[in-house]
Amino acid sequence: MQWDRSNTFGLARVSCVYCKGEDRRSVWKTKEAPCNCVFRAAFRACLNRFRLCAATESYAGAVSLDFHQGCDGRRSYSRKKEEYMADFCLVAKRTLDRDEHRVFRFHFLLGADWKLCCRQLAMDKGTFFHFVYRIERKLGRTFAELQPYPLYPVEDYFAGCIHRVERSVPAAPPLAERWHTGLLLSA
Ligand SMILES: [Zn+2]
Repeated sequence: MQWDRSNTFGLARVSCVYCKGEDRRSVWKTKEAPCNCVFRAAFRACLNRFRLCAATESYAGAVSLDFHQGCDGRRSYSRKKEEYMADFCLVAKRTLDRDEHRVFRFHFLLGADWKLCCRQLAMDKGTFFHFVYRIERKLGRTFAELQPYPLYPVEDYFAGCIHRVERSVPAAPPLAERWHTGLLLSA
């Protein structure tokens, strides 16, 4: 995903001390980038969908028909709900380091509150919430920028967007080449 005003609109928090809901912040005083609160909002959207999928795990998800890239129009069947849950966990494991992943697993996947996490992981409250904010920022960005199938926006993931590959039309050969091959004479 290319971050611009159209896809960050409405994600920033008005209470954010860095952007105050403007969804952009300055980087090195010359460049602008999406604010971290935008990445955290993207993560929370993905997490909410993950929890919804987990809550209905006992019901088998409907099979969907997906169209593949390319000109031959191949298709395959998939279970979107199960694939989304697997992607969510595997991308998190690949993106986070060992300590971050432990906090992610206890707090976000197993639902332990900060008191239980602090006791179990032997860390203070400030350190724990620094971990939480860093995890939300890293995963929100990764979920949105993942290629070729990002987890955010979740509606696009479940809609099974069709990415068509345009056929390239061969350009006409240069004039000299056409002359030598006789194309110009025969025309
Ligand atoms: Zn912000």
